[in-house]
Amino acid sequence: MSIIEIKGLKKSFGKNHVLKSIDLKVEEGQVVCIIGPSGSGKSTLLRCMNRLEKINGGQVVINGHDITDPKIDINQARQEVGMVFQHFNLFPHLSIKENITLAPVELDKMTQEEADKEALRLLEIVGLSDKAEAYPKSLSGGQKQRVAIARALAMKPEVLLFDEPTSALDPEMVGDVLAVMQKLAQDGMTMVVVTHEMGFAREVSDRVVFMDQGYVVEDAAPEQVFNHPKEARTKEFLDKVL
Ligand code: ADP
Ligand code: MG
Repeated sequence: MSIIEIKGLKKSFGKNHVLKSIDLKVEEGQVVCIIGPSGSGKSTLLRCMNRLEKINGGQVVINGHDITDPKIDINQARQEVGMVFQHFNLFPHLSIKENITLAPVELDKMTQEEADKEALRLLEIVGLSDKAEAYPKSLSGGQKQRVAIARALAMKPEVLLFDEPTSALDPEMVGDVLAVMQKLAQDGMTMVVVTHEMGFAREVSDRVVFMDQGYVVEDAAPEQVFNHPKEARTKEFLDKVL
């Protein structure tokens, strides 16, 4: 069984049919990049994967849990899916270490002592060992995003979703964040990444999914999508962004 299995997923906002029957599977350890024009439904698709959005039809199964089943413990299921947003949403009144340890301690996943130790390990992975006691306001955008990644990892998720993690960053910060993501990918993390970074999609992902107008138009290896797109819509989009 795939770690993410989405079948016939439909999502509307009123009369706006944003996702029109999405099928998508992600295998354990895969990195899948989702590309596509603004408004095509990329963020909505990610948000349906941890039920930040109510689903109107179809099925989303994460690590064997059908999160569309009304009987499921959604908080439990959500813990398996970490999410990193464009805007990092760190708590300004908490130190970096406290930002990372808050959720696992509150949810009784770890003692404070274990969480502190884990936070330091994660800060080392994201290259910010010296920032444990600092506050978010003293960090650059790129550093904040790397803290947000560490915070997501602290919950030990099965899957990590990224929604345009570098889009709000100054250009000189982008590389550090992408390098951390590439390291996670190499360590076997299952990742779904909505991104405009075509270089990252080409080099790091196992598959590239092109979405347009609420449909998955193309889903193939990066070499295939970038060099031999099947669909005219994919070609048109790539001509604009490459
Ligand atoms: P993308 O991330 O590909 O740019 P989104 O998933 O954000 O696209 O949006 C897809 C469509 O859904 C857009 O038409 C957008 O206006 C609409 N939409 C997204 N979120 C909401 C919401 N909370 N309420 C109403 N419409 C929304
Ligand atoms: Mg979006």
